[in-house]
Order: sequence, then structure tokens, then C-alpha cells
Amino acid sequence: MLIDAGEKEYGKKVLKYIQNIGTNKLKYVIATHPHSDHIGGLSTVINGIRTESFITVETDQNTSTWRNVLTAVDQNDVDYIDARVGDRYTFGDATFTILAPNSSGYEGYNNYSVVTMVECDQIRFLLTGDAETQSEKEMLNAKADLKADVLKCGHHGSSTSSSAAFLKAVRPAYAVISCGKNNDYGHPHRETIKKLKLMGCTYLRTDQLGTIVASTDGEHLSFSSERGKAKIPEYTAGDNVSTDQAPLYIGNKNSLYFHYSDCSGAATMKEKNKVEFATREEAVKAGYKPCPSCKP
Ligand SMILES: [Zn+2]
Ligand SMILES: [Zn+2]
Repeated sequence: MLIDAGEKEYGKKVLKYIQNIGTNKLKYVIATHPHSDHIGGLSTVINGIRTESFITVETDQNTSTWRNVLTAVDQNDVDYIDARVGDRYTFGDATFTILAPNSSGYEGYNNYSVVTMVECDQIRFLLTGDAETQSEKEMLNAKADLKADVLKCGHHGSSTSSSAAFLKAVRPAYAVISCGKNNDYGHPHRETIKKLKLMGCTYLRTDQLGTIVASTDGEHLSFSSERGKAKIPEYTAGDNVSTDQAPLYIGNKNSLYFHYSDCSGAATMKEKNKVEFATREEAVKAGYKPCPSCKP
């Protein structure tokens, strides 16, 4: 199974990677949403390797890059499947379930992203494309089972994704952020990194590590990377279930400011003035202002 393939110039690299691990057929190819940084390389892959089914969500996108992908699907007799929430597919010993998009009429294409929960026995991977807060909210409202061991952070670690409420529901042990080195968008955003750190989540970034590989036998999980010597702890299913989480935000009943829980302003606060918030929205709704120093 393949989800997205980067910009057009990376198509060859992705194809080669798949062939090098000894795969000569893809059962499923998913195009999360029709932005070139996700689907640019897909036509090269689909033209280069036998592909059974192509899953995506229909939008009004009409760039030549996207048309090239649809042409490749057509010319190679690939089954075209509309992504539908709740649909479940099997490949090898694994399954995946589609969790989003739950609605339509979004501004921009990011929230149209096909979100999948890939399950290998006890280990779960949540792959979110560029889904942003709106789609995250819809998944929460739909009471989707979001708990995952590994989260591929939405939209390259942007602050428009990875809302606190969503992260709390996923409670990942690992977060993987796909982003270009020194990219123009400042991805990943500091708010996202901050939240992951406070949750005690190990985060891995492709701008630092290059290609990141997660391997699992369905019970244990390990990572390796192309670059860098990041010490990535080994993991067994369930390791992240019982972890007591520190609250993400702490407010001061006296000053009505709220802080990230690791801000010095929170550390020096009198116990009786402390109030905990799980999400930023909760704090704002309660009338608290963000601390100008830690900028929660
Ligand atoms: Zn996008
Ligand atoms: Zn993107």
C-alpha cells in the first residue's frame, strides 16, 4: 500500500524505494488530496508498478499534475475507488480504515485529505495527509477510534493541524513529521512541537532524519532513519496506554493568564491559583489570556 508520493521530482525515488524492498505490486494507492506535494510523484509510480486500486476523494482540482495522475490510473486499468468513511480494507496481515473526510465544501483541499488508520495486529498508525483542525474536529465528533501508536502529523506539522483535543484522543507514542529542510512555511510550527513534547511523545522529522522507516511485527515497533543518529526507543504495544499525561495548559486564577505547563510562569505559580486546561480553546473560553512569554 502506498499513500502519496511527494512532488513530481520524487516519483522516481519513491518507485525505486518500493522496488528495492522487493515489492512488485501495489494493492492500494491512496492520494490523500490533490496538492502537488502529495500527488506529484504518483503518476510515475502508477506507470512504473502494477497497481490494483486507487483511492481518493473527488474535488474540483484540475491542475495538469492531478490530471496526469488520473490519466495514469485510467491507462493502467487501475480500479478507481471513492474514499468513504468507515470503509475497511485488508492487505497482507494489515487492515486500514478510512476516518475522513467526514464532510465537504471545505475551503482549500487540505481538509479533503483521506485519513486512514492502518492496523497491524496491535500496532496502529494514523496517517492524516494534510487534514487540519476542522477535519480533526469532525473525526472527534464522529467518535472515531483515534487512539494510535504512531501519528503522521497533519499538514507537515503546521499549527493549523494537530489540535490539542485531537492529540489527546490519539495519544501517540511517536509522531512523524514530514517536512522539507528550511521550508518556506516554517513547518513544523513551534506550537506543534511544544504540544508533542509536553505529551511525552517522541517526534521524528524528515527534515532532520531523511526517510523514516517504522517496522512492526504487530506487537513491537522500531524505527530507523536515513540520516542522523536519533536514538529512537523501542516500543511494545500498549506502552503508551497508561502514561499519565501532564496537563498541556495551566491558567492562573489570579492573573487570568494561561501558560504551557512547562513555562516558568506555571512553575512559579501558587498551587491555589492553578487551573488546568486540556486545550487552548478551553482556556480562552474561560476568559484566560495567553502568556506573552510562552505564547500558548
Ligand atoms: Zn495540502
Ligand atoms: Zn502537504
